[in-house]
Amino acid sequence: MPQISHRAEILPASPIRKLVPYADAARQRGTHVYHLNIGQPDIETPQTFWDAIRNVDMKVVAYSHSAGNLGLRKGIAKYYNRIGHDIASDDVLVTTGASEALQFILGATLNPGDEIIVPEPFYANYLGFAGLIDAKVVPLTTRIEDSFALPDAEAFKQLITPRTRAILICNPGNPTGIIYPQETLELLRDIVLEHDLFLISDEVYREFAYDGYVHRSVLGLEGLEDHAIVTDSISKRFSACGARIGAVITRNQTLMGAILKMAQARLSPPGLGQLGAEALYQLPPTYFDSIAAEYSARRDLLLERLRAIPGVTVPRVNGAFYAMVQLPVDDTDEFCRWMLESFSYKGATVMMAPGAGFYATPGLGKNEVRVAYVLNQQDLYEAMECLGEGIIAYQKMKSLAQHAAGQPT
Ligand code: PLP
Repeated sequence: MPQISHRAEILPASPIRKLVPYADAARQRGTHVYHLNIGQPDIETPQTFWDAIRNVDMKVVAYSHSAGNLGLRKGIAKYYNRIGHDIASDDVLVTTGASEALQFILGATLNPGDEIIVPEPFYANYLGFAGLIDAKVVPLTTRIEDSFALPDAEAFKQLITPRTRAILICNPGNPTGIIYPQETLELLRDIVLEHDLFLISDEVYREFAYDGYVHRSVLGLEGLEDHAIVTDSISKRFSACGARIGAVITRNQTLMGAILKMAQARLSPPGLGQLGAEALYQLPPTYFDSIAAEYSARRDLLLERLRAIPGVTVPRVNGAFYAMVQLPVDDTDEFCRWMLESFSYKGATVMMAPGAGFYATPGLGKNEVRVAYVLNQQDLYEAMECLGEGIIAYQKMKSLAQHAAGQPT
């Protein structure tokens, strides 16, 4: 058989999706699976999206402009103007989700062997995107005890080498739920200016900010016009993950020109998705109020129920819809699989994403899981009850196994 590439061979499997076969098997056995592993919101996509697609007067689903339809780019620029950023349609390029935006951004800023500093735990697919272009993710470890706050500038500077090209942050954070304060963004600005690096900010969860926390974009940092790059998406903002519409936003026109060449190579972003997205960007800003309130209530419920489980640690979570949770087990890869393969409570089990896949440093995150609170409050309550029972049963099973192993035969 011909050899597959080394690059493909070493690409890690997504911790978010790798347990899917076990969840499928559980469902086939008749067990209900609470999906807390994936950031698929259950909120309905706004009607305006469906109306735009149903009422379209189109005879051919044609390719669009490689940078995206001008109407959508103008709509996105207007959205940025509304939240206080001087962005023009030329500063926006529409992509097939934030996923493609990230691939383009990394492809246009990193050469093979170049390094990008990413605070860990991070959105696991960053490793895949960097791996596709043979670039190296250099992790900067943040800790659950500090609610995953970024360390001081010195910690960054120690990681900077002649191969460093960029720093990538996710704000609000997936998987940490952190929202970076202005001081942190300014610290990052000073570092990237001093070392002439790009500052890439994944802001797909921008509106998911609770407790009065205000999300601030790197686009608002003065002096970073050539350095700041934002990746954005309608997936979470408008609960439209399957429309596959994202965007790159940067005022650096040289970089935008390079990204446009990549966009031309893949021809165009999804046509029908763009139609729906253009309608979504016309929704009033109040659209998000009830959604933020719902997620905030889910977050409260999740944290309260998790903290009631003995041995579980959850940090402060102010944004996005995830929490990294420390469990009283040694290996969450094994535990999450066991939950799907061997456990059920009241006919159900819980699927979570094992924590190690969100770290690049070997050995970290082994007793953590990422939980996505994308279920309604009743289901979330039941899922937490199921998880609590699962932990007790798992600990019992482990201690029986250890006891048996220690018995003289
Ligand atoms: N960035 C982050 C932090 C995400 O959580 C996700 C999806 O979960 C993406 C990017 C990819 O988003 P999209 O659906 O727009 O490709």
